[in-house]
Order: sequence, then C-alpha cells, then structure tokens
Amino acid sequence: MEKIKMTTPLVEMDGDEMTRILWKMIKDELIFPFVELKAEYFDLGLPNRDKTADQVTIDSAEATKRHGVAVKCATITPNAQRMDEYKLHKMWKSPNGTIRSILDGTVFRAPITIPSIRPVVKTWEKPITIARHAYGDVYKNVELQVEEPGVAKLVFEGRSGERQEVEIHTFDGGGVIQGMHNTDRSIRSFAHSCFKFAVDTRQDLWFATKDTISKKYDARFREIFEEVYESDYKETFSRLGIEYFYTLIDDAVARVIRSKGGFIWACKNYDGDVMSDMLSTAFGSLAMMTSVLVSPDGKYEYEAAHGTVTRHYYKYLKGEETSTNPMATIFAWSGALRKRGQLDGNEALVQFSDRLEAACLDTLNAGIATKDLVGLMEGVEAKAVNSADFIAEIRRRLEEKMG
Ligand code: NAP
Ligand code: MG
Repeated sequence: MEKIKMTTPLVEMDGDEMTRILWKMIKDELIFPFVELKAEYFDLGLPNRDKTADQVTIDSAEATKRHGVAVKCATITPNAQRMDEYKLHKMWKSPNGTIRSILDGTVFRAPITIPSIRPVVKTWEKPITIARHAYGDVYKNVELQVEEPGVAKLVFEGRSGERQEVEIHTFDGGGVIQGMHNTDRSIRSFAHSCFKFAVDTRQDLWFATKDTISKKYDARFREIFEEVYESDYKETFSRLGIEYFYTLIDDAVARVIRSKGGFIWACKNYDGDVMSDMLSTAFGSLAMMTSVLVSPDGKYEYEAAHGTVTRHYYKYLKGEETSTNPMATIFAWSGALRKRGQLDGNEALVQFSDRLEAACLDTLNAGIATKDLVGLMEGVEAKAVNSADFIAEIRRRLEEKMG
C-alpha cells in the first residue's frame, strides 16, 4: 500500500509521562504505516522545557502560527513536588497557558460518545461542547502573600497620565492578594470564535458569568458578547433557528444538568477548566474528551483534554501492565490530520482521519476497551485489554478499511 503524502507540515508537540509513551505507540502503529508524516517536531517534555528555559514551548506556538495546525501531547505543569522530581531550574508555567496566550484562541472540548456508554446525567441525549476562554484571568495572575499589617491597592497608570487607584484591603495581619486581568480584544475574539463555532455546528450558544458580584470585570464579558452578537451574528442565528442564551453561572450549571445537551457552553477560563472535567466525567471518562484550541485567525491546536496520567506512568515504570485509554490522544491526531487535509485540499488525508476514527469506534463497539471504560459499558460484552493490545485492535481494523 502506498503511504499518503502530505504537502504542508503540521506542528508536533511531544509531552510527558504515560501520554508520551502512548504518543510513540500511536505514531508507530496508527500513523507511520499509513501516512508519510510531515511534521515540525518540538519536544515539550519537562526535561527539554527545563533545558531550553521553556523556549521550546514558545517556539512550538510560533510554529503553529506559521503552519496553522498542531497536535499536542499532554504535558506536566510543574509544582513544588515536580521541582524535586525533575530537579528543575525554575517552576515553569503551564505550557498550555503559554501556547494559549500566544495564539489567543478558544478551546472547544467535546466528548467522544458511543452507544454503550450512557452519560451519568440521564437527560443528556447529545454531547455538550464546552468552549473555554483561553486567555487571562487567574491563569495570568500575579499573587502576593503578606505577613504584616498594611494596605493593598489596585493601581492603574494610563499612558495619558490618567491614574486610577482603589483600595483592595487593609490587612491587620497576614493574608494573600491576587491581581488578574483580561483584555477587550481577547474577550471579543473569544466571543467571535464561540458564535462562529455555533454557526458552523448549528448549535445554541450559552454563556454565563458572575456579573451580579463582579460588576465591572464579569460585566465586561457579558457586554462584549452582547455587542458582538447584536452586530455580527443575530441575523444568522435567527435564520438558522439557533439561540444565544446568557445567564448567571450558577443558573447555567443548574440548567446544564437538566438539559438534553446538544449545545455549546461558553465559559470563562476558570469555569471552563473546572466544568470540562465535570462534563467529561459525567459523559463517561476524561479519557474520552477531545480538545481543540482555535485562534481568531483560524489556527488549530488539537490535544486530549486529560493530563499525563501520572499514576499509570509510575506503574509502567515499575514494569506493571497498564490499560491507559489512548482515544482522546488518537482523536487529537485524527483531528489535526483532518484539518491539515482540509486546508491543503488533501482528500486522502481527510479520508484517512475519518477511517482512523471509525476504526477506534468499531473497536469499542465490539466491546474491546481499556479498563476505564469497561465498567461503564452496557449492552455489549466488554473485555478489558492493555493499551498496546487496544491499539493493535484499532490497527487491524484500520488496515481493513485502508484495503
Ligand atoms: P490526569 O493525567 O488527567 O489523570 C487523572 C486520572 O484520570 C488518572 O489517574 C486516571 O484515573 C484518569 N485518566 C486520565 N486520563 C486517562 C486515560 N487516558 N486513560 C485512563 N485513565 C485516565 O490528571 P492528573 O493526574 O491530575 O495530572 C497529571 C499531570 O498531568 C499533572 O502533572 C498535570 O500538570 C498534567 N496535566 C496536563 C494537561 C495537559 O497537558 N493538557 C491537562 C491536565 C493535567 P485512575 O488513576 O483512577 O486510573
Ligand atoms: Mg481541568
């Protein structure tokens, strides 16, 4: 069989721990045998981020701006324990945070659903797509811990010489202070991405903040969404019979649980981080949640929503067999290859991506699954296999489809 050729490279961002192990298996078994992969490779594994003083993360984001499509493996966000474990020079920031702030895009997460896994929430009939604002707020914050009485202030010094100052708090002892920001530009492009994605996928768009408490910060999000909707999307929405719905975040959470699904839920950065974990668990497994970062100028970065699955990696290092689910990571590859194919007019690559996903779903529908899914599957006789055997089963089905 002749391998599928690529005209333009995609950006490949390697990562850490168990997902790094899966990454290689996926490439060796499911990509290389079928596609002459053209990729610009960046090693975002923590040792190389430390070695390059995190420059490699910035370079990979810049390359994504150039090439337009990236696929990323999960990566460790260092904390104090990782500083020791990897003997790091510095507590490097979250690579996802760095990449998102360079691309200034929106993350859309949607579960991979199969008939044999019913969502925990019985009313959900369709997937719920979460759109997470990918810039600012607590992910770009500055913090202080103070240990004596004193006053904390928020100060803005405008270029014009205008100065604004408010007192945050007068401390009578120790405490903590946090400063964060967002920009009209980023909120506006977030709004555009969300409305566009709603139009593309013909789904309602929900958005929620806490603007009753945060009368300037959160209210600004609500205002910009309203403006963008009124000026650019209202007519298209009504023509397509879809709806833009704004409410308070706590009301949104309650309504989501009672809904039938089948809509896009736009969330501020932190809400999206937390709620996407809740949704993916309720839909079945974190391992079945896909994720794509879309920039306002149409650059795409695909990844799995889950992390590096540390607990499984430690078992793997001890030589124990692991049954880690590669589905979301495989769908990151198929998503990136499909988008590359669409942008390049490479029909063979698009078709390969469809077949790769179909081979994955066929495998699960045949009851062959990793351990995390077996307990969730109903109506099929499910059998748990390890990661390598699961990928081998997918390969066998993919080979059949590729003739
Ligand atoms: P995690 O890697 O997502 O794993 C949490 C748990 O979820 C696992 O222990 C496992 O449960 C289950 N799980 C997740 N993915 C799975 C898969 N593919 N197959 C089977 N089970 C899966 O989250 P974490 O343990 O909190 O974080 C580990 C590291 O990942 C951290 O260093 C964090 O910084 C990083 N992280 C990276 C990203 C990213 O790059 N996008 C996102 C989140 C976290 P059981 O142990 O019960 O089997
Ligand atoms: Mg999260």
